[in-house]
Amino acid sequence: MPVPADQYFFIDPNRCIGCESCVQACSECDTHKGHSMIHLEYANRRESPQTLPVVCMHCDSPTCAEVCPADAIKRTEDGVVQTARKPRCIACNNCVLACPFGVPKMNVRQELMMKCDMCYDRTSEGKRPMCATVCPSQALFFGTREEIERLRPRSRPINEFQFGFQTIHTKVRMMVPRETVATHIDVAEVLCHPDEGSDQEDAMLAAALCELPIVART
Ligand code: SF4
Ligand code: SF4
Repeated sequence: MPVPADQYFFIDPNRCIGCESCVQACSECDTHKGHSMIHLEYANRRESPQTLPVVCMHCDSPTCAEVCPADAIKRTEDGVVQTARKPRCIACNNCVLACPFGVPKMNVRQELMMKCDMCYDRTSEGKRPMCATVCPSQALFFGTREEIERLRPRSRPINEFQFGFQTIHTKVRMMVPRETVATHIDVAEVLCHPDEGSDQEDAMLAAALCELPIVART
């Protein structure tokens, strides 16, 4: 069964309290025993304890799959980008390097790229992803547009991201303040001005998930 078309995954980084319940729940998932496919990053480690949950954004045109020489990464018709499949994956790391959101991880022991597949075993049966079932602050929310609009009247979802000249649309939605006149998030803009003293990875993740210049299309 496909993931129901009216069900979406919404991430609201501002609600993350860093409890790691999602990380624990993900590691207990049947399909990737012991390995969490979600992790937390810091928005600005020097100045704030604010954490950000990072999952696969399930891009409409997934770069990870486009660069895979072994055709090991599939996007199902319902828009979920699956983790790499054995025996196709040759552990070349192309997908790890290519993902603009820094998501896939190489499982060196298994020689297999692993990443969030939006708990496909659950979501394709009408259940919520493990992480969304345990998140106490609902920074991770899985449901309909109507539900999120009712729960978060002051926020709105965005699923368009700009990386230089590349525009990426994602199945996963990021919540931003409703009053912001915005249609997409320009990550490259922040990468040009990373925080002084922070390393490239911190700057990228902060850009992708929290300290985002939200740019109105002209
Ligand atoms: S976020 Fe990264 S891993 Fe997920 S679909 Fe997009 S390119 Fe692939
Ligand atoms: S590591 Fe595996 S999934 Fe990733 S690009 Fe290489 S073969 Fe494809």
